[in-house]
Amino acid sequence: MKRKNIILHEGEKSLASHISSILTEEGYPVFCRENFCEDEDAADPHIVIIDIDHSDIPYRDLARMYRNIHYQTPLQIVYIGGSKDTLLVALEKDGGDDFIHLPAEDLDFTARIKAADIRLANQYHLIQEREFFRNAVKQEEELSARILDQHVSLKEAFKNIEKFNQELATSNRRLEEIAKHDMLSGLLNRMSLFHAIDVEIDRAMRTPSPLCGIMIDIDFFKDINDNFGHPVGDKVIKQIGLRLRQLLRTYDHAGRYGGEEFFILLPNTTLDQAHIIGERFRSDLELKPIIIDEGTMHVTASLGVSSYREGESREGWIYRTDKAMYQAKQLGRNRVVSG
Ligand code: GH3
Ligand code: MG
Ligand code: MG
Repeated sequence: MKRKNIILHEGEKSLASHISSILTEEGYPVFCRENFCEDEDAADPHIVIIDIDHSDIPYRDLARMYRNIHYQTPLQIVYIGGSKDTLLVALEKDGGDDFIHLPAEDLDFTARIKAADIRLANQYHLIQEREFFRNAVKQEEELSARILDQHVSLKEAFKNIEKFNQELATSNRRLEEIAKHDMLSGLLNRMSLFHAIDVEIDRAMRTPSPLCGIMIDIDFFKDINDNFGHPVGDKVIKQIGLRLRQLLRTYDHAGRYGGEEFFILLPNTTLDQAHIIGERFRSDLELKPIIIDEGTMHVTASLGVSSYREGESREGWIYRTDKAMYQAKQLGRNRVVSG
């Protein structure tokens, strides 16, 4: 830091120039004042020397005025005077930092002013340190706020990912369902039907429990296509799929085996019970025609019922059930035959 400016309030002209020359020699710029100058800022005082015995304005008022103007920057006030008692009071009560008792040696002036200079340097150092820590705290606060912000957006991102995963899981489940089912009838497709048959055969053998199957073939379905067109035939297949789903228990399975052929899988069901279920579907179809936009369709079906026999292959069992259905056709259709 550059040399400190000194303001000197000394009423005795000869003493003023003596002190001034000592301190100027030491390298301090010295400004002699007779009065307090409002524009004191211009001189940017660092050390103010006030003679408490020879000052036009009472020394404590002068000191207060300097303190008021320079309250933001360090300032050293050194009193000089002939009475030690007065000097001590001035030091303790009137905002002084040090005093020089007159008469004084030249060395007293340089030593005391250098001591004030050192105190000033320490004060500036403290201010810098305080500024440094204040900035550090501010930076830490800003950093914490940024981390908090990032934390919040990260949380938001995690929430979105979680939501996205849930949506993905839902759409995967939906896709799985679509892949397992036949589009037209809404029943299991052939592959899923075969898988269900294998699982139920395995379960029935392990439990052990009866397992039955029903093969259903719509009678004279070709006539529907021929008379009303293929799209009408499709609508009839759709409605039959709906009826089958309504008829079954939750643990039963219904699949589209072929064009207008369906296979019903009935776990834990005896042949007699399966026959009754088949008959219920047959009579329901006979008595309640299928109503679609194009008109009322009187449709019947032939059903073959069979009970799974231990050791039988899936194909063997389906073949036997199909044979029973074929018998129903041969016996005049619109009937249930247990094989
Ligand atoms: P029946 O079974 O009583 O002997 O006579 P049918 O007329 O039903 O004879 P069959 O079972 O042999 O013929 C089935 C017909 O079903 C033949 C085919 O054109 C038709 N069909 C098969 N799949 C579909 C389909 O997905 N949509 C439509 N509209 N028709 C189909
Ligand atoms: Mg057929
Ligand atoms: Mg048919």
